[in-house]
Amino acid sequence: SEVLLEELDHVGPATAQKLKDAGFTTVEAIAVSSPAELATAAEIGESTAAKIILAARQSADIGGFETGDMVMERRKLVGKLTTGCTEFDEMMGGGIDTQAITELYGEFGSGKTQVAHQLAVNVQLPKEQGGLSGSVVIIDTENTFRPERIKQMVEGLSEKYGQEYDPEEFLKHIHVARAYNSNHQILLVDSAMELANELKDSDMPVRLFIVDSLTAHFRAEYIGRGTLADRQQKLNKHLHGLQKCGDLYNASVIVTNQVMSKPDAFFGDPTKPIGGHIVGHTATFRLYLRKSKGDKRIVKLVDSPNLPDGEAIISVTTPGLRD
Ligand code: ADP
Ligand code: MG
Repeated sequence: SEVLLEELDHVGPATAQKLKDAGFTTVEAIAVSSPAELATAAEIGESTAAKIILAARQSADIGGFETGDMVMERRKLVGKLTTGCTEFDEMMGGGIDTQAITELYGEFGSGKTQVAHQLAVNVQLPKEQGGLSGSVVIIDTENTFRPERIKQMVEGLSEKYGQEYDPEEFLKHIHVARAYNSNHQILLVDSAMELANELKDSDMPVRLFIVDSLTAHFRAEYIGRGTLADRQQKLNKHLHGLQKCGDLYNASVIVTNQVMSKPDAFFGDPTKPIGGHIVGHTATFRLYLRKSKGDKRIVKLVDSPNLPDGEAIISVTTPGLRD
């Protein structure tokens, strides 16, 4: 059923090869690219590139308008991924939505990476246990993915459900890539899509995309006001690529964003997330994490299209997230 690049209008064998060499290996990757980007990659004119993108969008059926009943059909498929915590799940209306971007923001050590690890485990569970019977793709920008931590959490599941789970099996369904800079991070979304496409009809399709951290590279690379607009534009495009991943594969998308606590109040709201409004407007759900006593964390739902704002208390423990 998969459409080959060569089958698209305006794509000959030579162009197809150039596109593949440049990392555009799927119709979906082309469908979400920009004419300028594609033109450079395949050494073609921008108007040809635009035509190819249009053909790809039509072929991938992701480009244009949908009628309300189509949106309704797609919305019916929205899945809920359990966090493993009762209050947290309830606050989210049953769990983390698929077809949506959920942003976790908070200070260093607030538990963003821990939540991401737990979701990478939980997504693999069957529906009866709150999972999505799926695999996960992690774009790791800070080198904080730890297989040992996954193992602890899977052991924690065995304890919780009184049933044996094999950590090795869980690790096999977690696909991790390190991103070395923001450009690499953006390109990895195309690779993630490619992988999701490969696994689409398998028994463990990709149902979760994680970018941890979404903003660290961008923040490090774009210092000073002059390049702020440029940074926001790139971040915006990156998020739209991620949203496509969520929509196309009926997957949850988790992004993390570190905020700084600034002792000097003149610099504004200390809990203001990096990436500011761009992330804010593109993420569907925004969760603000902060430390509380001991292993407790407060998760606040800040912004949601269909749920009331709320707070949930969770515990980050060695066997995983708990009430
Ligand atoms: P960030 O928001 O910066 O990503 P993390 O998710 O990495 O923060 O949270 C780190 C915190 O998670 C640690 O300070 C500790 O409280 C907790 N934590 C990490 N690993 C474990 C573990 N194996 N057992 C219990 N708590 C842990
Ligand atoms: Mg982290």
